[in-house]
Amino acid sequence: MNPIDKLTEIFSRFPGIGPRQARRFVFFLLREGADSRAAIIRSIGELSSEIIQCEECMRFFSRQGTLIACSICSNIERDRTKLMIVSRDSDLDAVEKSGAFPGLYFVLGGSIPILEKKPERRIRKDALLSRIEKLAELREIILALNATADGENTEVYLRSLLDSNATERKIEISVLGRGLSSGLEIEYSDPDTLKNALKNRSH
Ligand SMILES: [Zn+2]
Repeated sequence: MNPIDKLTEIFSRFPGIGPRQARRFVFFLLREGADSRAAIIRSIGELSSEIIQCEECMRFFSRQGTLIACSICSNIERDRTKLMIVSRDSDLDAVEKSGAFPGLYFVLGGSIPILEKKPERRIRKDALLSRIEKLAELREIILALNATADGENTEVYLRSLLDSNATERKIEISVLGRGLSSGLEIEYSDPDTLKNALKNRSH
């Protein structure tokens, strides 16, 4: 495969990018010139050298010394009785920017499409269970998933996964209030919508 086809193939694996757009990206890079391409290569290299995954919430964050937990998980001021489960890092960022949530997070790394036969392949199931296990003071798990078919399916799966253990430990499971109107996604919701969704969460 020649380099143009090869990079086109790589870009077309990006979320929401089809083969034609992927090819346009490749030609854009060719037109941009060698310096610009070198800068992009450096930035991608820095993703490997400077970004690590938090061992607790699984989000990606900038390496700071020898810390293995991110700034949220290692902040002792955060409310350790509340854990919010989100699909992706971008959802966590949106909630964090709204400033409405004082607790801790867990990033699933995806969602579960309807009819998926092996849901555990789509999300970080084992890491989630061990995260919950380790949070001794946990009193509430908030399922903050998109109001889409995949999000709702993921919610159903998580409830069946967590229900008995949560009942045993007297942990409440809640969901965001559906002021997050049907079809809306957390990543694209404004801070006020997220604040209301959190305030109106139901059990
Ligand atoms: Zn973390």
